[in-house]
Amino acid sequence: MYQHLDTNGSPIDFSPGKVICVGRNYREHCAELENEVPKMPLLFMKPESALVQDSNIEFNSDEPVHFEAELALLIGQTVKQGELTDESSCWDAIEGLGLALDLTKRGMQSKLKAKGHPWELAKAFDASCPISGFSSNIDRENPIQFTMTLNGELRQSGSTAQMIHSIPSVLIYMNQHFSLKPGDVVLTGTPEGVGEIKHGDQMILSLNERELASFSFSYRQAI
Ligand code: ZN
Repeated sequence: MYQHLDTNGSPIDFSPGKVICVGRNYREHCAELENEVPKMPLLFMKPESALVQDSNIEFNSDEPVHFEAELALLIGQTVKQGELTDESSCWDAIEGLGLALDLTKRGMQSKLKAKGHPWELAKAFDASCPISGFSSNIDRENPIQFTMTLNGELRQSGSTAQMIHSIPSVLIYMNQHFSLKPGDVVLTGTPEGVGEIKHGDQMILSLNERELASFSFSYRQAI
């Protein structure tokens, strides 16, 4: 069973909750997928059953799974709908910072988008959210940086300074529409460099140059 951990591998005492994802929060990523830059954050969710922290991840998928590396926020407070109004209360609600992958069946997503349907079938499958332990070291003033290397090569690097919608504005916006609870996770969008995961790929996620997670991937059946 998945349990939130800190960066030393000790359990954090919150039940895993919903995973709220922000789509299209970096300009260059919008461009690489030929999407418009949204005026308001684009939100979707993954269920807690998507969360996984095993170092070896096996997909049961009949199409390639694509990676999106993202900064993840662990929520540590109950915030009822509409209660978040200012930046400092947003930062107060964050218990930890981690890194996650918003894994996506891009072929399925393209079909759903074309029909105007919700994305869950492409985004919510088991193990669609591999995630690191969470650091309680939260710098409210300076940009937070992260990188993802794939098979030893730098593939994605992001910074909160590049986000279209800042962390507080994303939290205020989603909280206008629903409550946040301890154990919920927010994925803040992916920078450019997304791509397909191949059988045997190895990935390392680092936050402010500190390695937080490494994953290796396999597919149960040939695709
Ligand atoms: Zn994403």
